[in-house]
This record gives sequence, C-alpha cells and structure tokens, in this order.
Amino acid sequence: QFHMIKYEDLKWGESLGHGSFTRNFKGFKTDIRDGEKHVTPVFLKELDVVHKNCWESFFEAASLMSQISHKHLILVYGVSVLGVKNIMVQEFVECGALDLYLKRRRSVSVSWKLDVAKQLASALNFLEEKNIVHGNICAKNLLLAREDDPSQGSSPFIKLSDPGISVPMLGKDVILDRIPWVAPELLDAPEKLTLDCDKWSFGATVWEIFNNGNTPLLGWDLDKKRQFYESSQQLPPSQWTELADLVNQCMDYQADFRPSCRSIIRQLNSLITSGNHVPVWITSTPA
Ligand code: ATP
Ligand code: MG
Repeated sequence: QFHMIKYEDLKWGESLGHGSFTRNFKGFKTDIRDGEKHVTPVFLKELDVVHKNCWESFFEAASLMSQISHKHLILVYGVSVLGVKNIMVQEFVECGALDLYLKRRRSVSVSWKLDVAKQLASALNFLEEKNIVHGNICAKNLLLAREDDPSQGSSPFIKLSDPGISVPMLGKDVILDRIPWVAPELLDAPEKLTLDCDKWSFGATVWEIFNNGNTPLLGWDLDKKRQFYESSQQLPPSQWTELADLVNQCMDYQADFRPSCRSIIRQLNSLITSGNHVPVWITSTPA
C-alpha cells in the first residue's frame, strides 16, 4: 500500500552516501496540483542492485511508514520503480542524522537531550498502541528536523526514519554488527521481532543521545560483540543514576521485564521536572 511516484517526476541531486543497503541522494519531486507545478525537496533511497532480492522488505518499510502518520515519524511520499531501480521517496530532513549532529556539536544541553528522548518515546508509544514493530531504532535513524533556538525558547524536533530491510531478512553478520542496538534475543531468532525488541533499541539510543552521539562498542569486531551479549554485559552506565536506571530497564536481557512506553514516558517526565536538580557534571562534556 503506497503511492507510486513516476520516475520522470524525480530530479536527482547530490549524493549523500551509502546506507546499509541503499545509495542515498538529495532530490526533488515535481507534481502538478490544481494546475500548478509544485517542487518538493526529497530524500531518495535507492536500493543497491546487489540487494535487489530484498525489494519486498524494502517496500514493506516504505509501506509501513506511508500508512501511519505521527509528527515524530518520517514522512514517506511513496516509491518509484524503473527497471531494476527501487527507490523510496521521503521528506528531506534538513539537519540530517542525530548521531552526526551530536558528534559535531559536542556540548548540547541536558534538557535538549531529554526533549529528544521524550519525542522518541512518544513515537514509540504511538507504534506500541498500533502494535507496530519498527525494528531499527538508533540515533543514526533519528533525523533532526529542527535544532533549537535558545533565543526563541524553542526545542529540537526529531523524526524517526524508516527501518529499512527487516531484521529477519538480514544476514547473521549484519545482525551481530547491530549490537548493542539489536535486542539480544534476535541473535538466535531474528524472526522473533516484537515490540519488546524496540524497547531494547530505545535504551541503546537514549544511551547514545546522552553520550553525545558516541557510537557504543565502536571498533569491536563481531566476535567481541557477540561475547558482549553472551555474557549479558551492559553499556557503561551514566553517572546520572535515574537515567542509567531507565536505560538498564530497557536493556534488560529478559525481554518481558522491559518497561511499557507509559512507564518510559513517566520516568522521562520525572527526569525533566527534576531538571533543576541536574548535577553540574551532567551538563559539562567529558573530555
Ligand atoms: P539503514 O537502513 O541502515 O538505516 P539508510 O539508507 O537509512 O540505512 P542511513 O545510514 O540511516 O541510511 O542514513 C544515511 C545518512 O543520510 C544519514 O547519516 C543522514 O544524515 C542522511 N539522511 C537519512 N535520511 C534522511 C532524510 N530523510 N533527510 C535528510 N537526510 C537524511
Ligand atoms: Mg537509516
């Protein structure tokens, strides 16, 4: 279920590099509405030809995102097909991926990070209510539509991107490489993708946000990553106990112990209301 976009209505702009299975571009989409020509900037994800056997899963992701609508979920306009080319056409989000943004900026305030975590939690809650599993939540897949403007007192605004090829279709190595975002129970049973798995990924993503976009387990080889899960290890905890506790609850090796979205939101709200009590060392960036 998605809108088909005519290939000739797309204009290709600069390359924005590779995704796991895609080549990405900035572009424009032209359509005629009420006799008037409209040009919209878009983000074009073209499935790599070597992965063309995954097109159904790729289009499923597009279909999923175009059927649901939430302010913190990326808008997918439709798909376009030409010969072996399979293209997902989505809204262009100005400031790009959150992990890169955080790495660039280095010191972003705690309240900014909490805002982002709350927005992601609200998207997660929406998906949970609809019983929809995302399957690929990480800071790389959070796009920043708006930075804040302190002088205006406005906050950041994020959108969760599409999940891409679904976990059950991924090779063993790709799944191992997704440690620590992928839920541990998926290593042995990738088809058992559930809402609980998204809770784990949410925990890892919150960890990333509060660690200034630093990639957890960066540079670890697949064997070492697998051992990390096999020995039930945890990421280094935040010094902010309440936050560390929330991440820990989400990243519980026992899937059914992970908190509900309601509980996650309640805990995040209590972190925000105690914002005045945020210890000073939280607000400073570690060297
Ligand atoms: P994956 O399926 O692994 O998530 P992908 O194709 O989504 O792969 P990413 O690595 O997630 O690729 O994204 C590549 C880069 O493209 C990101 O770092 C981000 O900066 C940029 N990007 C992704 N989506 C958009 C978008 N809708 N608008 C603007 N930039 C985007
Ligand atoms: Mg992505």
